[in-house]
Amino acid sequence: MNLFKDKDSGVLLIYTGGTIGMKEDPQSGTLKPFDFNALMEEVPELRKFATHIDSYTFNPPIDSSDVEPSLWVSLAHLIEQEYNHYDGFVVLHGTDTMAYSASALSFMIDDLGKSIVFTGSQLPIGSLRTDGRENLISAVEIASSKDSKGHSMVPEVCICFNSGLYRGNRSRKINATGFDAFTSPNYPQLATAGINIKYNYGYIHYPEKWDAGITVHDELDTRVSILKIHPGITRQAVRDILLGEGSRAVILETYGSGNAPSSPWFLELVSEASRSGKILLNVTQCLSGDVNMDIYATGKSLKEAGVISGYDITTESALGKLFSLMGRYKDNSRVKTLLEMNLKGEISK
Ligand code: ASP
Repeated sequence: MNLFKDKDSGVLLIYTGGTIGMKEDPQSGTLKPFDFNALMEEVPELRKFATHIDSYTFNPPIDSSDVEPSLWVSLAHLIEQEYNHYDGFVVLHGTDTMAYSASALSFMIDDLGKSIVFTGSQLPIGSLRTDGRENLISAVEIASSKDSKGHSMVPEVCICFNSGLYRGNRSRKINATGFDAFTSPNYPQLATAGINIKYNYGYIHYPEKWDAGITVHDELDTRVSILKIHPGITRQAVRDILLGEGSRAVILETYGSGNAPSSPWFLELVSEASRSGKILLNVTQCLSGDVNMDIYATGKSLKEAGVISGYDITTESALGKLFSLMGRYKDNSRVKTLLEMNLKGEISK
């Protein structure tokens, strides 16, 4: 850890792991995390920033496929502890689960008045054609930018990737290999990095009170299962997921505007799960658009069976929202009410 507390400004760069901070081991040819203190050698452009940059490395850095909610808790507490010492935060994270982590943090932190910008890369920072350098520079610039009143330009949890800045809980990884790895299909970009950073002011969320300080909710209840509907799905598979004892909530990933099979056995299982007290949330499998269970008879039957609408929420965001709400509230009806409300800009409602 390398933190300077002499100046209460600047950006804290938090490295959790992922490709961006890896270097090819000349002997084995595999990617290994590099000493983060050598970052300035890899990205000397960072020295040109007027802002002060400190760094913190999670030990050990991890591939984001290994991310667990405990990392989100550590991340949220680190930001809470350092909140007054920095103008903004940049989180370097593997791309695979970045949308899950950014979504979860958005629900875990209340009254955010500074930027928490997640970024990463498809190629390691040391490689010639890396996208990491651009992504990092844009993320630092955005996290440190303030308006004429000294307020953060984007006081949100967001993802900066390939010139786009996206709301974290609206983001999805859409490309496994291309540099355009992220998008927010149901919400406009918050900013675009070109010759200058162009902020999309009308779509950025601003806090009511700028200096209230953040509150972290670190109770997470992870008892959520996901049921992805597909042609040929078996009664046994549906039963196992919907009625499995380990879950308090099930996200139903449905077709189109929230449709699922109309077979009596399927609807009976959904009703049984609902009667047993499970929270059932309908999220579309489509990349964009929203759930509306009033359009088709198949959607209507789900609503009548006790399923609630996820509107245009992403699955990544629905998971973080459920973990956080269920961690905070024991009462399922309270959780259901809050699920249908727009809490952090995650749904268009
Ligand atoms: N598997 C890597 C990770 O998510 C890929 C990346 O960093 O982009 O950590």
